[in-house]
Amino acid sequence: MVLQETHRGDLPPELDDPLFWTAIGQFDGALEHAGVGADVAEVLRYPERALSVAIPVRLDSGSLGVYPGYRVQHSSVLGPTKGGIRYDVAVTLGECAALAMWMTWKCALLRLPYGGAKGGVRCNPRTLSATERERLTRRFTSELLPIIGPQKDIPAPDMATDEQTMAWMMDTYSMQVGYAVPEIVTGKPLSVGGSALRPEATGIGVVTVVEEGVRRLGWALRGSVCVVQGYGKVGAVAAHELAARGARVVAVSDIAGGVYNPEGLDFQALDAWRSEQDGIAGFAGAQDVTNAGLLELPCDVLVLAATEGQVTGDNAHRVAARVVAEGANGPTTLEADEILAERGIVVLPDILTNAGGVAVSYFEWVQDIQRLFWGPDEIRTRLRDLMRDAVARVWALADEEGLSLRRAALVTSIREVAEALELRGIYP
Ligand code: NAD
Repeated sequence: MVLQETHRGDLPPELDDPLFWTAIGQFDGALEHAGVGADVAEVLRYPERALSVAIPVRLDSGSLGVYPGYRVQHSSVLGPTKGGIRYDVAVTLGECAALAMWMTWKCALLRLPYGGAKGGVRCNPRTLSATERERLTRRFTSELLPIIGPQKDIPAPDMATDEQTMAWMMDTYSMQVGYAVPEIVTGKPLSVGGSALRPEATGIGVVTVVEEGVRRLGWALRGSVCVVQGYGKVGAVAAHELAARGARVVAVSDIAGGVYNPEGLDFQALDAWRSEQDGIAGFAGAQDVTNAGLLELPCDVLVLAATEGQVTGDNAHRVAARVVAEGANGPTTLEADEILAERGIVVLPDILTNAGGVAVSYFEWVQDIQRLFWGPDEIRTRLRDLMRDAVARVWALADEEGLSLRRAALVTSIREVAEALELRGIYP
């Protein structure tokens, strides 16, 4: 916290955002252990490049909406930058900068040849029609053209963006260059160069890390009681995978609230209800629970797969899980992290736990460039091996140096990037 205060004035005020300060606070905490040179550390505190745009969109009503959009590239030391695009009312430049920095650490941790980026548009995606979202996406992609490219920066889906969004981005880029360029984005539908298992990859990765983590803590996932916040692309797959591996998933939620059944949720019935009702609220096979209440339910594993800043100094004292798995990016604040550590609750950190998505995005990009596609079994095996290898390295460092898993993950990543930066040197 002291370091955070000391450095606050040194950084660009336009990045001032609670999430960016969380990222910087974590970085500064890890630096004490990383043993990297001061110059290299100073370079890595800043995003390399940030673009801010205004996106005019003709709405279905005939009126015009103008939405702020951003793309931040944190580091291209290890390769082209990579990261999602989100549509959300809370998107800011500083939030994108934090998420871009975490993408750098995530890619380095998995030894993928990428740096980190992130982008987004500040809008309420739930009030936009499909045609409005298409116009928004195509115009945003056009605005990003100077800085994205298959060897420069490769976007992917994030909150409230999906395969369709990626297909529109791929098409817009391809129309500009005059030929199909599937490798410009990942997370595409299969028919335009997507990869098997990409939609499920982040959720599968989360559960792989949870399984490995609880095994190392001396218990088994089978029979464990699990709670999942956020029943979206990451959370729904994680909940299904947990149930498939014998865990009892008792509660899940979306932005409107959650459902809780201490006997375990029936996912077939819940998913049928969700597709009929466009949400999970009111599901008859469970009782309602608020998102705040869901975070405090007694369980073995609490998966946070909604959004950032969910476990804070206010509620961390009441979290009643043995393990917190960060499927979302930045769901635990710095203060909450300390409280959970004091209480002996193990946090499986985001840059490790949700890295399955970018791992299979990397596979997708490699397949697109080669025009040679792999089957789901091969991808599942490669993903599992990458995730297990990263868990093993993080766990070993945590044990050797007496660090939390978050700090061990960050130290591992920072060392990877710092070594490459030292060798490349500062240009010119
Ligand atoms: P999504 O939009 O598909 O799902 C988000 C879910 O969380 C939805 O159910 C939504 O209703 C719920 N939600 C949103 N805000 C909430 C709030 N304030 N309280 C409770 N629930 C809320 O998004 P996603 O792709 O599943 O992403 C979820 C998180 O995982 C984000 O932090 C994202 O950055 C991270 N992530 C996603 C991927 C990926 O491959 N999609 C990869 C790595 C990390």
